[in-house]
Amino acid sequence: MKTVQDYLKSGAIDVAPLLSLVLQKSGAEIILNHDYALSSNEISRLESLLLKRQQGMPFAYLSGCRGFYHLDFKVTPDTLIPRPETELLIDIALEIFPDKAKPCHLLDLGTGSGIIAITLKDKNPHWQVSATDFSNKALEVARSNTTSQIEFLQGSWFEPVINQSFDLIVSNPPYIEENDAYLDDLSFEPICALTAGKDGLDDIRIIIDQAPDHLGENGFLLLEHGYDQQDRIVKLLKRKFNNIQTFKDYNYKDRAILAQCK
Ligand code: GLN
Repeated sequence: MKTVQDYLKSGAIDVAPLLSLVLQKSGAEIILNHDYALSSNEISRLESLLLKRQQGMPFAYLSGCRGFYHLDFKVTPDTLIPRPETELLIDIALEIFPDKAKPCHLLDLGTGSGIIAITLKDKNPHWQVSATDFSNKALEVARSNTTSQIEFLQGSWFEPVINQSFDLIVSNPPYIEENDAYLDDLSFEPICALTAGKDGLDDIRIIIDQAPDHLGENGFLLLEHGYDQQDRIVKLLKRKFNNIQTFKDYNYKDRAILAQCK
């Protein structure tokens, strides 16, 4: 017989939230009922989760859920786990279009679990929102996260929106260098959502090159990027964009860039 207390004392990684997950109880309820003896079914589910967590599987893939901005999202190993720094893109986008009545045609490129498109649509239900992703499996997750009308389209970057024009194009593309040692810590996440060639800029170059064909005059491009890529991205933008603004994330690292099409 094993009790909640036995597990809490074990010191296993994330044992308290995993107990919450298996027993469907809040952290406070778990502590209050620390004498509770788990059933054999609960024990086998908990031990399998503890083992996966110990092997490095991120908690979000075990719980299948991660909060982003004001909403909760389903996540699977087919999608990146939402990062807090990506909330910066939401703050910037909401500031660009403060007028709640003004229409906005938004495109989210490489939407993954759909966090950017869905959060912005939820904040501005009158916006017309499209989102693309190369991965059909990611799009399945994004669709399951959606409660309002968003057009999810399969294809590489602008491929599925060939003749369409937008007011705002947002993307959190892959931007890690393909040999970066940091990737060892991210081995459970889809590599295609993380890396973009030797310098991490392959996808950002494609987006900057093709975005002007899909933006009206003064249309906005908003990108998340790596902490050491800002200067190089400013250079790439200068030919076809102006009003370039750079942003730091909440850890004071260069993280986002906004520009307007000439
Ligand atoms: N932000 C991710 C990380 O640092 C990198 C990939 C991405 O989000 N585009 O782990």
